[in-house]
Amino acid sequence: MQEKYQLTYLFISHDLSVVEHISDTVGVMYLGSLVEYGDTEDIFRNPLHPYTKALFSAIPVPDPTVKMKRIVLEGSIPSPANPPKGCKFHTRCANCMERCKHETPVQREIEPGHYVVCHLYDGRGTIVNEKK
Ligand code: SF4
Repeated sequence: MQEKYQLTYLFISHDLSVVEHISDTVGVMYLGSLVEYGDTEDIFRNPLHPYTKALFSAIPVPDPTVKMKRIVLEGSIPSPANPPKGCKFHTRCANCMERCKHETPVQREIEPGHYVVCHLYDGRGTIVNEKK
């Protein structure tokens, strides 16, 4: 149908295994804000944002011999009507730095077409560049 009618679909889901199979591009949102965006292949090969990494760690692997390293997020989801200052994810992020609580991160292109909104990638965090 997409090819026949030249359609664009917006598919919203928490089931990343389905997202991977039907999407050309992926946008990951937290509390109503885009935190990572890029080609599906790039996002799944190289997830950058701590929230994306936590989501990906929850994807079940259909192999009982594979040990899962699940990232469990602490705390509860803040109210979208009253989001935290600075980075909206800072109250649950294991990588949170002091400035994450006050400074809102901006979107950066880390590899062609692959964008992330996180201080870890601005040259002042611990991860400067994860280009592969
Ligand atoms: S900006 Fe800071 S709190 Fe927000 S996701 Fe990045 S490291 Fe975590």
